[in-house]
Amino acid sequence: MRKVSVFGATGSVGVSTLDLLGRRDDIAVVALTGGRNVALLASQAIAHKAELAVTAFDDCYEPLKAALAGTGIRVAAGTQAVVEAAHRPADWMMSAIVGAAGLAPGFAALAQGRTVALANKESLVTAGPLLLAEARSHGATILPVDSEHSAVFQALAGEDIAAVETVTLTASGGGLRDWPMERLAQATPDDAGKHPNWDMGQRITIDSASMFNKAMEVIEAHEFFGLAPGQIAVLIHPQSLVHALVAFRDGAVMGHLGAPDMRHPIGYALNWPQRGELPVARLNLAQAGRLDFAEPDLTRYPALALAWQVMRTGGAAGAVFNAAKEVALDHFIARKIGFLDMAPLVEDTLSAFAARADITQTPRSLAEVLAIDTEARALAGEAAQARHRAAPA
Ligand code: NAD
Ligand code: MG
Repeated sequence: MRKVSVFGATGSVGVSTLDLLGRRDDIAVVALTGGRNVALLASQAIAHKAELAVTAFDDCYEPLKAALAGTGIRVAAGTQAVVEAAHRPADWMMSAIVGAAGLAPGFAALAQGRTVALANKESLVTAGPLLLAEARSHGATILPVDSEHSAVFQALAGEDIAAVETVTLTASGGGLRDWPMERLAQATPDDAGKHPNWDMGQRITIDSASMFNKAMEVIEAHEFFGLAPGQIAVLIHPQSLVHALVAFRDGAVMGHLGAPDMRHPIGYALNWPQRGELPVARLNLAQAGRLDFAEPDLTRYPALALAWQVMRTGGAAGAVFNAAKEVALDHFIARKIGFLDMAPLVEDTLSAFAARADITQTPRSLAEVLAIDTEARALAGEAAQARHRAAPA
């Protein structure tokens, strides 16, 4: 039996992961973690006969304990308990907590030499070099789960990364792709929270509409594959059937195609280095009829341009960018700032951080990353306040 833990089990990626795990009889579930959705976490723990269920929130301990009373499943709560769950022996771990909260549990699993299926893109954006060094020094393996990165990873199998000229990540353009520019300022979280092709959590869906998600993915590709900023490109591809393209120095381009279903990249990471049977829709190109591509308009998607600024700055910029982006998103979801305020807010935070500290200095420990994250959140909070005041009543 393969021992498996799922962090962020109650989220979109977590639920898809458990869907795949539930179809197999060679898997033993060790730990499942979630947040406030106690009822779902408890039912998942029972259905998958988990050893341990952990909620990240202390005040959810009693309800979770009550929901699992008499089942023999151990219960824990709190941020530290989530990290401790990553210390439990397991052969494979899904890292699918959303946000910087996913950082510490992923590190803990890598320090145990585990195979970590990494959906939490924030880990690579905020602490890429540290994360890869941690994996190297403990003989751990990181497998990308973000669909575009899984696609690149698959296109690179058996190839030499030195032979790669460019990597192109595709982007659907998000829920507001066809809105006229002048309407975007009025877009609400509900408008931005609908995705044409993928069924994902609210935060990443809004990040798709703003292309903050693609900016994160560009940085993620830079960190994970060691690509130079100039080697990474983005194309708008409304059908979301081509996930990434890898162009080699001999002119060949390897593309990865498939239906937009996260169970493919999750399943690829689960079965790696083999390929297993997966319950995803098969691609029918005749039915699709056409594949469209367009260059993204950076005036429409200013967040995307910030990715190159972050990569070229290096050092702490990724951690500052991610923290500021999370704060901007919080304020947008709370309807305190507009959709078009998010990118300038992040840019202001990068400048404010650089004015106070050496932003080009690479953090040397997880503690330093978390300190940068805290400081950047405070600066972003101030920048957001300034925008509340500037916003018309
Ligand atoms: P989601 O919001 O649906 O789920 C997030 C999970 O994290 C939930 O289980 C939630 O309980 C947990 N969580 C939230 N706050 C937490 C905290 N403070 N501490 C511990 N746990 C907490 O998110 P999602 O869409 O499943 O995305 C998860 C991660 O995967 C994100 O990093 C996202 O960028 C990445 N990702 C998602 C998709 C997708 O299709 N949804 C695709 C690629 C990458
Ligand atoms: Mg993606």
